[in-house]
Amino acid sequence: MKKEILQKLYHGFVQLHILRHTKQRPVYGAWMMEELKKHGYNIGPGTLYPLLNKMEYSGLLTKEKQIVRGKVRKYYSITPLGLDVFKDAREKAAQLFHEIEGRSIK
Ligand SMILES: [Zn+2]
Repeated sequence: MKKEILQKLYHGFVQLHILRHTKQRPVYGAWMMEELKKHGYNIGPGTLYPLLNKMEYSGLLTKEKQIVRGKVRKYYSITPLGLDVFKDAREKAAQLFHEIEGRSIK
């Protein structure tokens, strides 16, 4: 029960992480998975790839195939819509963080 509730809650957090990182540079799935692991999110390819595809379909990310050492690697980049969404969500996340931590910024 707790696991399912947290999974739903983290779904948005994970998307924010993805937007933040694709904002810095194009990223590929395996790299993103490692990065999320560092943040304590255990997300396998069966969850991450459908999520990346969904974000691409929603217009938040674009995908580009590159050949790296003979293998096709799909790089995801943020779109203008993704940047716009990130900007708004980031403000909300900052507000929430400060409130949770007992420091008001507004
Ligand atoms: Zn990160």
